[in-house]
Amino acid sequence: MKLILLGAPGAGKGTQAEIISEKYGIPAVSTGNILREAVKNQTRLGLEAKSYMDAGALVPDDVIISIIKERFKEPDCAGGFILDGMPRTVVQAEKLDEMGVEIDKALDIEVSDEDIIKRLSGRRVCSVCGSSYHVLYRPPAEEGVCDKCGGELIIRRDDQIETILDRLETYHRQTEPLKDYYEKRGKLVIVEGQEELADTTRLMLAAVEA
Ligand code: AMP
Repeated sequence: MKLILLGAPGAGKGTQAEIISEKYGIPAVSTGNILREAVKNQTRLGLEAKSYMDAGALVPDDVIISIIKERFKEPDCAGGFILDGMPRTVVQAEKLDEMGVEIDKALDIEVSDEDIIKRLSGRRVCSVCGSSYHVLYRPPAEEGVCDKCGGELIIRRDDQIETILDRLETYHRQTEPLKDYYEKRGKLVIVEGQEELADTTRLMLAAVEA
């Protein structure tokens, strides 16, 4: 199974990708997590990507494409994967096609800008494993501590309000055209993001299995 998750930043792609990954035994491949790890480790990739990420802009397509090519070589991708946050531009989508990656479905989680702002400003992520939480909607069992690995929960640098607005603008301008791209290819499935996480998950799993 090869799936793509589309949707604005904060629509719940990361959370849904984790759930689908566990349920179907396919890896969730998040270019955002790969980039954040590189920034944390101050690798060459990390140093190159950081300024774009901090500004709420997209990292250049060629950088993303080489990351994804490397990631696909890992044996866990052999039986499929769920892409979270890639492609984010039409060029990236065309590149996946050129690489011969046959996508089964592009699942688009729709959430209004107003709700995105509420969600991102309460988001917390694990500094160790990258799992996502929300202070109101998905709190961890113990405040500030990851349920999965015990790591410290932090606010992402790019979840500051000014950066959130820049990321939303980037999303509408550069990523939203992908809906049209996958619709034309008969792959697009729209999932309306719900207030309750479990409700979105139910719609999501039904869309995967339809
Ligand atoms: P995310 O965790 O998916 O919201 O990604 C965080 C940041 O990483 C984005 O705001 C971009 O700066 C960068 N990024 C992640 N994935 C991509 C991608 N496919 N193309 C370009 N930039 C990306």
